[in-house]
Amino acid sequence: MDQQELGLRQSIVEACRWMNASGLNQGTSGNISVRHGDVMLISPSGVPYEQLEPEDIVAMPLEGEYGSYKARGNNIPSSEWRFHLDIMRARPEVGAIVHTHSTYATTLAIARKEIPACHYMIAAAGGPNIRCADYATYGTAELSEAALKALEGRTCCLLANHGMIATGPNLAKAKWLAVELETIARQYYLSLCIGGPVLLSDAEIEHVKERFKSYGPRPKEEAANANAAEAEPKRKKKAK
Ligand code: 13P
Ligand code: ZN
Repeated sequence: MDQQELGLRQSIVEACRWMNASGLNQGTSGNISVRHGDVMLISPSGVPYEQLEPEDIVAMPLEGEYGSYKARGNNIPSSEWRFHLDIMRARPEVGAIVHTHSTYATTLAIARKEIPACHYMIAAAGGPNIRCADYATYGTAELSEAALKALEGRTCCLLANHGMIATGPNLAKAKWLAVELETIARQYYLSLCIGGPVLLSDAEIEHVKERFKSYGPRPKEEAANANAAEAEPKRKKKAK
């Protein structure tokens, strides 16, 4: 095992523990995978996270024999290896997947409610809604098929009567999105309790998606240029 793989295995162990310590998940629910070249590294099924060691993480080839794996001792891959593997095979931009049974996302999924554009942060999901995948028994090919469908054009989804899936180009971004998804689920739920949300338009969510491209720290010159470009249409309008 090379140093890079060892580091990724360690990051999965830490993310599994973080998922429970942060209140995003509980028990041995949930699972996490990371892409490493032509292999998917995934948490083992039913092993308490506090006992996990990097060597417990299971390796599955992304191509070749579907479902084959390398694991130590009696470990087997997460029961949800199908949707992890199918998402990574269908979506080359996905480098990591976090699946949790977080309370508010799961509550909405139990009510079979998708999340509409109740907050601008929904743009992080890739569009104006976060869909809820049809129900199918955990660990089945049917659940994987339903999840892939709900993830079309999106980075995350709910799973009916089950939980949620958040993806990202790397594990840090998938963890970040899992927190954002649970947060917007909580906000949407609470807004439903006080009369229901006022929703944002599809055009506004597209606008926010564009703005996200330049969100965060960047060289001063680049930021100044962006500000000038944004001021330009207003100046033209005034001149008219
Ligand atoms: P595993 O322990 O097999 O990963 O299962 C947890 C889970 O969330 C199933 O949906
Ligand atoms: Zn689950």
